[in-house]
Amino acid sequence: MQLPWLRPLWLTLRHDLAQQRLSHAHCIAWQPELGSDRLIQQFSRLLLCQQPQQQACGQCKSCLLAAAGSHPDYYYIDSIDDKAIGVDSVRDLTTQLQQTSNQFGAKVVWINQADRMTLTAANALLKTLEEPTADTYFILSPRRVSSLLPTLRSRMQIHVITSPDLNALQQWLTQQLGRTISAVEQQLLQQYPQAPVQVLEWIKADNFPADRVSVLASAWFNQQRWPDIERGDWAGWLDASEQLVHDLLRIQQGLGADYLRQASLFAQAKPWLQRQGISSRQLSEWLQWCYATRKLATEQSGLNAALLLQSLWAKWHVTSTNMRSSGVY
Ligand SMILES: [Zn+2]
Repeated sequence: MQLPWLRPLWLTLRHDLAQQRLSHAHCIAWQPELGSDRLIQQFSRLLLCQQPQQQACGQCKSCLLAAAGSHPDYYYIDSIDDKAIGVDSVRDLTTQLQQTSNQFGAKVVWINQADRMTLTAANALLKTLEEPTADTYFILSPRRVSSLLPTLRSRMQIHVITSPDLNALQQWLTQQLGRTISAVEQQLLQQYPQAPVQVLEWIKADNFPADRVSVLASAWFNQQRWPDIERGDWAGWLDASEQLVHDLLRIQQGLGADYLRQASLFAQAKPWLQRQGISSRQLSEWLQWCYATRKLATEQSGLNAALLLQSLWAKWHVTSTNMRSSGVY
């Protein structure tokens, strides 16, 4: 496992399998920025391999089929274009699972973005989990584990991937790049501690992301146009929104620029907070709105997440400009 923060979980799974006490259903949050998809892939291959050792052998027929993406006992379900995963997908899956496995080994089901399942789909899956077919393993990877049905959660072993601390991340990045990291790269890690895999890709491609927190801050503080959101891109903007309010809270609590995820924000944000007379209560409320937006956007299919986010920003704008004139806070 090349990503050191995934190693503890990988070792646990491997150990449980070797001891023949591996649970048949696993929940691993979908965090590709942390490499969760690589872990799940490696885990699936291990389960399918006909002569597994420390990892999948890579040589047996099962491994070759898996590598070619055509293993008949491997089932992958995902949300397409941010749409809900409907009950039909789960019913098809259940029917297929009833048949004997093609390679006479384990069957592996990976449901990615499992929190995009409709309630009916989730309930249909629950039945399958309660009476699983022999030698079948399920891996569910929701964006947020908490948004899965409690009944589903109780049927699975829940695994948590913890992102490493900044020091460990710096060491890892230095190792990956084979050189000392620059100030800009250091700043990126600080801004995206939950996304080291993504950070490495940006650096390798020499293609750094637009700094979304600064874009939001400057729209808000200078009453400029809020950014346009492309379809499917709302999650990154919502992350940036939360990050911005978190940093504002830190400034409000008297912390200096060094304590911010986005240090460059300080010079602009501090006078703005004072000028607008923003209270910590208001900041907490803005943060709550972010959480509520995320809940709505992830739990309810059919809602336009980009619109939700734009209405969140509009509410921020109105409440921050009204405050001064109304003198409520
Ligand atoms: Zn193999």
